[in-house]
Amino acid sequence: MENKKELRNWLTDFGLDHPLVIAGPCSAETEEQLVKIAHQLKDSDVSVLRAGIWKPRTRPGNFEGVGEKGLEWLKTAKEETGLLTTTEVANPAHVELALKHDIDILWIGARTTVSPFNVQEIADALKGTNKTVLIKNPINPDLSLWLGAVERFYTAGVKNLGVIHRGFSSYEKSKYRNNPEWQIPIDLQTKFPDLPLILDPSHIAGNRELLFDLSQTALDLNFDGLMVETHYDPDNAWSDAAQQITPETLIQIMNDLKIKKVVSESEEFMNSLKNLRAKIDISDQLLLEVLSKRMKISDEIGKIKKSQNVAILQTQRWNEILGKMILKGEEQGLSEEFILKLFKAVHMESINHQKR
Ligand code: PEP
Ligand code: MN
Repeated sequence: MENKKELRNWLTDFGLDHPLVIAGPCSAETEEQLVKIAHQLKDSDVSVLRAGIWKPRTRPGNFEGVGEKGLEWLKTAKEETGLLTTTEVANPAHVELALKHDIDILWIGARTTVSPFNVQEIADALKGTNKTVLIKNPINPDLSLWLGAVERFYTAGVKNLGVIHRGFSSYEKSKYRNNPEWQIPIDLQTKFPDLPLILDPSHIAGNRELLFDLSQTALDLNFDGLMVETHYDPDNAWSDAAQQITPETLIQIMNDLKIKKVVSESEEFMNSLKNLRAKIDISDQLLLEVLSKRMKISDEIGKIKKSQNVAILQTQRWNEILGKMILKGEEQGLSEEFILKLFKAVHMESINHQKR
């Protein structure tokens, strides 16, 4: 992707604001529902209306979308409100229908991005068009797979591209529906600074409470926009009810978010500083999470040692760990002094956990 600048142009070609805000229901349910939501969003920071027409559900039997007629509703909503429109496409037939109904932006869902065959088919179906495509990350935390999808579209001549970070699934339960794993979009941004990067806090959070903090973090990390699921009656939405918010709540969130203005030369330094500090905050958060995970494992070890009446302190094992960590630390630019201090503290806390 030599011509990275080319990638950002569609944002300005569309005359879109920074940050770009995409909002609308998880799924189009009825024409009235979609058009009503569009009207509630039209005088806000939102410039693109989203609605899923074909819904990829993890298990069969859930609402799977209204299909083609929903594309007509999107068109009506656009005519009445002036909002641009976007929907998910998962195969060439979807692409054909979306093109026929003049949907402005197509997005590739997380369950599609995992499949190079599907991505290639969709990319081929878009050859020769100038559609804008937003590619959600694959559900598994794999940056190459995500970038591979971007490359397939780029190579097919689709140059109006962007990516959506919607979090990554894991078997372990966490407070998120899909873990943000911020390091992945940060790495992506470092590699392709001009590829527009949008946060979908709704599918990361899985609830309403975490949306604000996630969105603020994204803006602090220089993301280019947000995609937020919005419904006038979230509790009764036909899909993803727990995470949807009303248009009013979204407008409130947008007012409360600290959005970086276009910066002047002198502000550049402050901006980079803020960016780096946000990364530090995230690293610290990760550090705490890793330490807490480690202590939970210590708790388990404590239990089995107790059941076998084995002493908590195993000097030989401890010396082995310390030696290994000093060597590894050195490789990673961390001093022996620091590693000793750090691991002694970790070890002490671990012993205390095992004693409990
Ligand atoms: C959606 O946006 O409603 C959706 C299905 O998203 P994802 O592909 O991120 O799960
Ligand atoms: Mn959804």
